[in-house]
Amino acid sequence: MPQVRRLVTEVPGPRSRELAARRSAAVSAAVGSSTPFYAAAAGGGVVVDVDGNSYVDLGSGIAVTTVGNAAPQVVDAVVEQVQRFTHTCFMVTPYEAYVQVCELLAELTPGDHAKKSALFTSGAEAVENAVKVARAHTGRQAVVVFDHAYHGRTNLTMAMTAKNSPYKDGFGPFAPEVYRAPLSYPFREGRDADGRPVDGPAAARRAIDHVEKQVGAHRVAAVVVEPVQGEGGFIVPAPGFLPEIAAWARRSGIVLVADEVQTGFARTGRMFACEHEGVVPDLVTSAKGIAGGLPLSALTGRAEIMDAPVPGGLGGTYGGNPAACAAALGALRAVRDGDLLARAVAVGELLTTRLRRLAARDARVGDVRGRGAMVAAELVRPGTREPHPALAAAVAREAVRRGVVVLTCGTWGNVLRFLPPLTCPDALLEEAFDVLEAVFADLGEDVLPAGGAR
Ligand code: PMP
Repeated sequence: MPQVRRLVTEVPGPRSRELAARRSAAVSAAVGSSTPFYAAAAGGGVVVDVDGNSYVDLGSGIAVTTVGNAAPQVVDAVVEQVQRFTHTCFMVTPYEAYVQVCELLAELTPGDHAKKSALFTSGAEAVENAVKVARAHTGRQAVVVFDHAYHGRTNLTMAMTAKNSPYKDGFGPFAPEVYRAPLSYPFREGRDADGRPVDGPAAARRAIDHVEKQVGAHRVAAVVVEPVQGEGGFIVPAPGFLPEIAAWARRSGIVLVADEVQTGFARTGRMFACEHEGVVPDLVTSAKGIAGGLPLSALTGRAEIMDAPVPGGLGGTYGGNPAACAAALGALRAVRDGDLLARAVAVGELLTTRLRRLAARDARVGDVRGRGAMVAAELVRPGTREPHPALAAAVAREAVRRGVVVLTCGTWGNVLRFLPPLTCPDALLEEAFDVLEAVFADLGEDVLPAGGAR
């Protein structure tokens, strides 16, 4: 697939518009899409639409195609597998690929203790199962999550997710025994009552105090934390926050769950983002990047914790589907063959350099942050920290019209997030940022649509 940005029609083109009309009659209006074009093919760092337009992909289908879209190692492994068999259900007749994925997860996740895994289909399912396992292990019920967290759209994970609209609005009642603690959010962190800056450990102590006073540590089964918050705005907690939370969980007999659904599998320049601060969680969830686009998720953790539920207590018809397991084995090969951990660091440097350059010129870029190839720009009204969601929406919309796919995120919808496939060539990334700089220059405050937030 040629790694180029090339527009041959207006965006969306006629065939995409035709599909949009069919879609509006057949697909629930509650299912949204970020881009107005329909995909025909994708490879490396580009997506080609049904009208023949080729876009630079800075979103990887929300952090999934880290190894590149249609990565040859993934495609070959899946084809080979589905020609042999497509499904037996691991709970009926097991197969080697499932076991192999679990063996690799034991090697790759942080810590050198004995580990076991169970495989599922979506990220939300992995998170739900983390809570089930932690409850079975501790005999406790409470679950602690953080401000701005995103953990999924199932009933339990909706309760764990912070943002109301669109994830929770009208969908309650939510699962009980889920408690939210304050996060470390350096860009928006004030000072404490004594005027001291709230650094990572101080923010952790604030969260711990909140839980101890309002919940009781002895009632808490699990604390679930994204090492870098994804949907909440690519928020990197201040140094020391995660280690302090981890130490408290250990002292209190609480299962520490790292939700690495978005951060895992090479995205941040490490296999798992917890490694940046040397944190060893008891349980780790992974999904998204793990299988190069096939639906697979995993829960991995201390063997004695993973063995706590009753036999048969974990599973699902499709969990660890053989094609998805083959894809994961292929994706891991692609990470190793392509030295993608180092590549994630290099891509991250390129993205950060370009965004800092933009921030130096445009006061609406309030913060540039991230880890590895998971980078964001938080947009604000110039000279303030007031979120600017209209600008984020307008930039994303205009960028796609010019052939660059950019995703937004954040509690206020004011964060642009950048997480390209790691196979996207540097020249194409640079070109995409040239486009973005032009978009920012063209979108003066005077031409911004009113209330453009999505
Ligand atoms: N946890 C995190 C940290 C996520 O980013 C997501 C997805 N954005 C999920 C859980 C849910 O994953 P899925 O959409 O596969 O259910």
